[in-house]
Amino acid sequence: MSLETIAVQSGTYEDPVTGAVGTPVFATTTFTLETDSYSAFSDGALRDVPIYTRYGNPSQWSVQEKIASLEGAESGLITSSGMSAIASTVFALTNQGGHIISAYDVYGGTYNFLREDMSGSGRDVTFVDPLDLEAIKEAIRPETQMILLETLTNPLLKIPDIEAIADIAKQVSALLVVDNTFLTPINCQPLHIGADIVVHSATKYLSGHSDVTAGAVVGSRKYLDRVWAQALRFGGSAEALSCFLVERGAKTLALRVAQQNRSAREVAGFLDRHPAVLDVAYPSLHPERIPQFLRDAPGFGGVVSFRVTGGDETALAVMKKLKIPRTATSLGGVESLVSMPTNTSHSSLTSGQKQVAGIEPGLIRLSVGIEGTADILRDLDQALSFKGGFNA
Ligand code: PLP
Repeated sequence: MSLETIAVQSGTYEDPVTGAVGTPVFATTTFTLETDSYSAFSDGALRDVPIYTRYGNPSQWSVQEKIASLEGAESGLITSSGMSAIASTVFALTNQGGHIISAYDVYGGTYNFLREDMSGSGRDVTFVDPLDLEAIKEAIRPETQMILLETLTNPLLKIPDIEAIADIAKQVSALLVVDNTFLTPINCQPLHIGADIVVHSATKYLSGHSDVTAGAVVGSRKYLDRVWAQALRFGGSAEALSCFLVERGAKTLALRVAQQNRSAREVAGFLDRHPAVLDVAYPSLHPERIPQFLRDAPGFGGVVSFRVTGGDETALAVMKKLKIPRTATSLGGVESLVSMPTNTSHSSLTSGQKQVAGIEPGLIRLSVGIEGTADILRDLDQALSFKGGFNA
């Protein structure tokens, strides 16, 4: 089945009492105990039995089945946030004495989590440039248990060669965990090119309407059982209403992402030609940098990063002039948003670390929504031509 069909059909709860077409919101913390519940307790098999919502709830089961199907996974888990998904995965699938390889330019929250919370729990982390395969190989140690990367880096949209990195991970029996938030399963399914686990901030494209904070983990059942157990110890279960919102949003994922792919590509081309713009990061502008596994991808999502002449002050003025994109952090929603990585997602980095991550003065991250492309282009043009042109 196509991803369009899976997005709509997969994972809908079939209510035997009413025949409801959509999944009801199971707003209950607990369920009447039956014989099955007691055997689940005695067998330690609590994951799929309705007992207590932190352990599981039909609202969670429906949406996690939809996300797992979209990513081509055997099993899935919905969590209370993307960070909860990442933290649960890392803690569940590594242990004390273990070593993790990740990248300098992963999402700031992930970077901080790996920097702040790993050493105290006996795990060591090496950060590398995710485009440098030799650096990844050199970072491997006998105790390396996990490589954790993103399919498109934030904010400069670099694409690590996930297929080649999966081979490296397999040779040393390390797990490859890939954050696919920016590309979504519509553009890339990392499990099909060798990743073991995929994580998402479902707060972004999967839900798509900037109205819910949630996360997801998908992969084989054997790993997901462990991530589920960790998530419930951390208390990272998703609320029923959040599950409903993610599931409803995900039904239009394929349509939204197709539009965002098209629109962002045009926006990137427009910005690339604009005299007030110094450079633009968007994969279609640099086809020679796209690894083989993404050459036939339908697109690269809605995020375009660009640097204006005149530094951060000009960038702030441009954002203020924009009428369609609101100045707000986050991405992947139906509405366009702009923000500056330097004072939002990457604000905790030192200036040296920002330089390493390529966060130069004047850098704006635009998340293109599903508004009309011509309207977005006109708006960008008027903002960039402010005062007769910032590059004057
Ligand atoms: N992963 C990526 C790539 C992100 O951009 C974000 C948030 O911006 C996260 C994970 C964390 O997700 P959440 O904010 O839902 O916890």
